[in-house]
Amino acid sequence: MDLKYLKMCNIDVQSYLLLKAGLKSVIRTCLPEDSVKKFQNILEKLGVKVLIKRVDLLYGEPPKNPLYNVYISLSKKLAKSAYETEISGNRLAFGKLLGYPKCCVENFIENIKEGSSLKGNPDFMIRSYKKTKTKPSFYCNSLFLFDSKLSNVELKIYLKNLSIFSKTEHLFLIKHIPCSFDCKKSIKIGRVTLKLLKEHEPSLAKEIVNAVKRQVLYFDYFRWIVCEGKINGNEMSYKKVFPYKSLLDGKFMKKLKQGNRIEIKKDKTVIMSDNKKIFELPKEGILLDFT
Ligand SMILES: [Zn+2]
Repeated sequence: MDLKYLKMCNIDVQSYLLLKAGLKSVIRTCLPEDSVKKFQNILEKLGVKVLIKRVDLLYGEPPKNPLYNVYISLSKKLAKSAYETEISGNRLAFGKLLGYPKCCVENFIENIKEGSSLKGNPDFMIRSYKKTKTKPSFYCNSLFLFDSKLSNVELKIYLKNLSIFSKTEHLFLIKHIPCSFDCKKSIKIGRVTLKLLKEHEPSLAKEIVNAVKRQVLYFDYFRWIVCEGKINGNEMSYKKVFPYKSLLDGKFMKKLKQGNRIEIKKDKTVIMSDNKKIFELPKEGILLDFT
């Protein structure tokens, strides 16, 4: 498979493999005007059907430069219905066409509704965490993904730091936001995706598992760290911090390297070196065990 073409077309390998295996009906991607024609030819060469529609509004405003939504499917009819369900605002039908579980799409819609009454999107990671009843599954680790998560304000931060986040944005096994980190239907999709990756892109499969099957100290979309350690309630002893970059400030990162334990307390996160406190951040983090 030619990964270069997919990358140019702004399509992730995971979605493409699911589409080709008949496990996903439609992929929707967004492309600028100058790329659209060129990529239409590439996509058709890959043996998929393509429907291209101009984007009128992006976050409620006309986009500064012309943008196009590209619906990709093995069936022309399904590409068209994805476009129709998207513009009619039928998120449930659109999510189904993208191959997302109903429970997750319904949960997403509910969160957005609640978010608009709170004037801002909720943090979907924290929402999923709160709904997790058993151990989080690494198949559901959507830490590196920003698709559909961000509010207007957050989008600006993301775009400003695109060079950082685009380096890790391919590290996922499910593309959607899971309703919980132990959502059975999401785990099933993640499993199939990993199987396909192992068959077709084994080194990418390895890279992804290496990143998502970890412990995470999470503050918000832009501030987190990925570790290797052991979580016990509100504490994590760790032996390694991975170099995946977020916007956590340098001082915190530096102290983290000197310590070996994290304690989550009310309104603060404390870094310890054995039993000595070495740093305190006035924000309460969340410890997530995706191992
Ligand atoms: Zn779900």
